[in-house]
Amino acid sequence: MRMKINVTGIVQGVGFRPFIYRTAVKNSLKGYVKNRGDAGVEILLEGKEENIKNFLKDLQQEKPPLAQIHRIITTRFTGKEECEDFTIHKSSNEAELSGSVVPPDIAICNDCLGELRDPKDPRYDYFFITCTNCGPRFTTIEKLPYDRENTTMRDFPMCSFCQKEYTDPMNRRFHAQTVACPECGPKAYLTTSKGEPVKQKDPMREASKLLAEGNILAVKGYGGFHVAASATMDKPLMRLREAKHRSQKPFAIMARSLNAIKTFAQVSTKEAELLASYSRPIVLLNKSNDYFLSNLIAPGLHNLGVMLPYSGLHYMLFDRTDDLALVMTSANPPNQPIIKDNEEAIKMLSSTVDYFLFHNRQIAHRCDDSVIRTHGRRQVFIRRSRGYVPAPIMLREKAKHCVVGLGGELNNTSCVLLEKKAFISQHIGDVENIETKQFLKNATKHLIHLTNSKPDTIACDLHPKFTTTKLAHELTEEKGWQLIQVQHHYAHIAALMAEHGVREMVGICCDGYGYGTDGKAWGGEILYCTREEPGFKRLAHLEKQPLIGGDLATRYPLRVAAGILSKNTDVRDWILQNKQHFPHGEKEVEVILSQLEKGQSTVETTSCGRVSDAVASILGICYERTYEGEPAMKLESAAMKGKDVLKLKPTIKNNTLETSQMIWQIFESRGKCSIADLAYSAHAYLAKGLATLAIQEAQKHGIKIVGFSGGAACNEILTSITRKTIETADLHFLVHEAIPPSDGGISFGQAVVGGFFRS
Ligand SMILES: [Zn+2]
Ligand SMILES: [Zn+2]
Repeated sequence: MRMKINVTGIVQGVGFRPFIYRTAVKNSLKGYVKNRGDAGVEILLEGKEENIKNFLKDLQQEKPPLAQIHRIITTRFTGKEECEDFTIHKSSNEAELSGSVVPPDIAICNDCLGELRDPKDPRYDYFFITCTNCGPRFTTIEKLPYDRENTTMRDFPMCSFCQKEYTDPMNRRFHAQTVACPECGPKAYLTTSKGEPVKQKDPMREASKLLAEGNILAVKGYGGFHVAASATMDKPLMRLREAKHRSQKPFAIMARSLNAIKTFAQVSTKEAELLASYSRPIVLLNKSNDYFLSNLIAPGLHNLGVMLPYSGLHYMLFDRTDDLALVMTSANPPNQPIIKDNEEAIKMLSSTVDYFLFHNRQIAHRCDDSVIRTHGRRQVFIRRSRGYVPAPIMLREKAKHCVVGLGGELNNTSCVLLEKKAFISQHIGDVENIETKQFLKNATKHLIHLTNSKPDTIACDLHPKFTTTKLAHELTEEKGWQLIQVQHHYAHIAALMAEHGVREMVGICCDGYGYGTDGKAWGGEILYCTREEPGFKRLAHLEKQPLIGGDLATRYPLRVAAGILSKNTDVRDWILQNKQHFPHGEKEVEVILSQLEKGQSTVETTSCGRVSDAVASILGICYERTYEGEPAMKLESAAMKGKDVLKLKPTIKNNTLETSQMIWQIFESRGKCSIADLAYSAHAYLAKGLATLAIQEAQKHGIKIVGFSGGAACNEILTSITRKTIETADLHFLVHEAIPPSDGGISFGQAVVGGFFRS
């Protein structure tokens, strides 16, 4: 019998061809296997029917751990057998099939880690040790098929030792495209902040020593540069905060081991599982009572982002120091993509860092670390990037169109929706300038190319002035695609529906800002969403609140607080007492007061984020938002040990949850109750109020499912109380697990609306 088999999925760069080779030989079959230009694998088998049947069974059951098989297409054909044995053929550029993709970057495996530490191994202490089961993939592949000459490893021709392993079917590095050794592979080296070489036999040892002495280093990794510093010394972190203009934004840290993490943070079973997974995300962990790292790492927060080492280089840094953890934060100037090239790094970072730990392997694609927190046994993506991208989100049904979603503005990603799969790009960041716009454009094109997709539709936000909206118009012109614009909160809930294969739901969508269908600022919404026309309906929302000074109110939450409080009380004295928290002091306060008196607040918002901001400023927790979500995050941290002392009953009038009374009550209770209890009471009011609204609407419309999305769904207290309230009413409660609830999930939601929700 002769049979041709095409396998689609994640089957290149995961040791698939070596696996096929061994399985064919085991089943006494002849033929070949080869990689194709569409990221799939083609197999020809010749032999007994029985053996081919067994081969197909093995293919499903014994596939390599990192491989994902989406489809197996078999074609029997007759004719004389032509092959003398089974071989791995040269890859072809054939590309008729769509939807296969290369794997994400994979953390160093235990076999490689063992060799790294074995003095007798030829790759002992070699920082770029990898095999078919581990190493960079997405960030090193420039084009398909996945062959060495199509990756940034092409600059490093294999030595005879590596070549021998590469061609030995029994070896773990058989056809491993990233195989390298100290003889032939990439080299690591240390330079000064100006890029002048620092001659060192062991650059890793020297780097560890420099870190222990309080220096700041830029360290090149798989998908870009980290800035590294000691996690216990305040001085370098203070310098780093000054240089990066990041006074408050938390830094991620890397810890030597799980046991090391347990000395300063609480780790649940689920969190430990995530930390050690081959994706090696940053996991947000609660600081323990014994927390001893610098308070400058995550100021004002109850948790911190921790990851385990994921490359040989990282392990070597820790092997040469006693430090339990190092700050390892992504190196990029504000609003710029993560830095990936050596020259770019010297240009952008030489005034921030004292030394560079470089290597001479190019990074093909930037990719930031992923960030996850847990909600019970569930994972919540804060950012889905390295270790996950470009693996697809698998959907229950086939989309009617192939759609590109370009996302919103902040914290952005893009998405390619193709049949039953959604490919979401790596984290792009805030798309507000040429650099990030270019990054978005390139990442999207690369994703289309990788998956061999042929989009017919492009989806973007409703906001007419977003850079992404303009880009969508440009691409529509250029490619002749159909353009659709999707309301921000609708996109969030559509994403949640598609993730769970649900056809209609009442969605609670809370975040900072989204452009409404009325052109107003939305952000605390109860929506009815359906896959039929009209798609969605706004059922209810938070009370509209004034933004005194527009965007300034987003930056300085006391402005929001003043606007809300002035509905119930005279805020003059209180605002004046707080004048030091306004950049222009009393002068600014007078302007605010006169705006309040005249009642001429031009902008209003239903944003949930702004309500949290107001509470945070009234309680003295945060007066200036220096990073996205800061006041709300600090309010959650303050509330972690609190309880609902105020027990406020949600006030609902005309499909609106009132917030003025709640804010006033918090204001009046200062000094009488603890800050923790008041912070918690505010969470309880919002969560119960929004849940109550959603329950009312669900019951009215006969809907059994309530979902929660938007940036506020990253907040554990809000999510837990909402879940409890919804489930107590005997309704099904859904949250995101595969995509971020924050704006990183918008591109997916837009694509879903374009691909499923229209005829
Ligand atoms: Zn390995
Ligand atoms: Zn070699």
